[in-house]
Amino acid sequence: MSNYLLRSSFSIPLPRFIPLDHFRFRKQCRVWYRSYCKNRNNQVEIMEHVVFDGPEVMVGDLQLLQNKISSVRLEGPSKLQVIADFDGTLTRYWIDGQRGHSSHGLLQQGNPEYDLKRQELYDHYHPLEIDPTIPLDEKAKLMEEWWEKTHGLLIEGGLTYGAIQSSVAKSRIAFREGVTELFELLEKNDVPVLIFSAGLADIIEEVLRQKLHRSFKNVNIVSNRMVFNENGNLVSFKGKTIHVLNKNEHAIDMAGPLHDQLGDDNGSTADVSSVKSRTNVLLLGDHIGDLGMSDGLNYNTRISVGFLNDNIESSSDSYRNAFDVVYMNDASMWGVVKLASQLCSIVAD
Ligand SMILES: [Mg+2]
Repeated sequence: MSNYLLRSSFSIPLPRFIPLDHFRFRKQCRVWYRSYCKNRNNQVEIMEHVVFDGPEVMVGDLQLLQNKISSVRLEGPSKLQVIADFDGTLTRYWIDGQRGHSSHGLLQQGNPEYDLKRQELYDHYHPLEIDPTIPLDEKAKLMEEWWEKTHGLLIEGGLTYGAIQSSVAKSRIAFREGVTELFELLEKNDVPVLIFSAGLADIIEEVLRQKLHRSFKNVNIVSNRMVFNENGNLVSFKGKTIHVLNKNEHAIDMAGPLHDQLGDDNGSTADVSSVKSRTNVLLLGDHIGDLGMSDGLNYNTRISVGFLNDNIESSSDSYRNAFDVVYMNDASMWGVVKLASQLCSIVAD
C-alpha cells in the first residue's frame, strides 16, 4: 500500500513527520505526488480508501472527492450507475508502442475502394472536428454529415457482419487491465454500465466478445446500431445518428429501446427508466467533452474520472480542473475498481 501515491494540489500543508520518500516530483507534469492527507481532526492518514493506481493519478480537490464518495456510499449501489466512454477510456491508448485502434478505425470493409472513401471523409472532416474556431452548432451539423456519409458508404460498400468479426480479430485493440474485474464488481452489485460511443455498437460488442470472452448482463451499449439482412449484409442503421457532439444521456432515447439495441441474448436487465432513476453517476471518459455524457440526467452526485492519454503536460491542468480524478500515462483500470468497490461498500450505522 505504501506505493500508492496520490497527487493533489498544494492546498493542504504537508505534515512535518512524513518521510520525504513519500513524495516524488515528476518532471513530466511538474507537480508533486503525495501519499498522505489530513483528515478533519488534523491528523494525517494514508489515503488508502481513495488512493488508486500508483503514481499515475491526480486529484484536484481531495475534500470534494471524499464528500462525493461519502454521498454516493450513503445512497447505496441501487442509486448508482456507471457511464463510460469506450475508445481510449475502457481501451488502452498505446499497444506495443503504437496507437491502439479505435472501434471505428479498426473496421476494414473488405472493399478497398470503400475503405479509401471513408479515409477521404476522415481526412476532410477530422480537421473540422478539432478546429476550435467553428461554432458548436455548425460543427454538430458537419459531424452529422460526416457520420451519415460514412454510414452510407458502409451500406453501399456491402459491409458484412463477417467483415466486422475479422476486422476485430486482426485489430490492435485491447482493454485496460482491470476492466473485466470492474464489470464483474458492478454486475455483482447490480450497477448498470452504459457505454456511450459515437462509434458502432456492433463493433464494440464484437470487441467485448472477442477480448473479454464473456458478456455482462449489466453492460449496455448506446451507440450506432446496424441492421443486417438474412445474408449478413448491412442494410440500414437504427435510430438517430449518434456522433461526437450529441453523445450524451439523450442518446438513449435517440437510439431506440435498449433491449432492441442489445440485439443478442446477453440477458440485459437495464432499461431507460431504471437508468434514469439512478441519480448517482460514476463517469469515465478520456476527453473533457465526455463529461457531457451525463447531460440530460438529473444526477445528485457525479464522480468523474478522466484518462489523460496524450499531451499530458499541456492538458494536465485542464483535466485536473474538469475531472474529480485523472489517470495518466495509459494507467490500468485498477484504481477505478478500487473506487467502485468503495462506492458499493456498505456504510455502517
Ligand atoms: Mg474516447
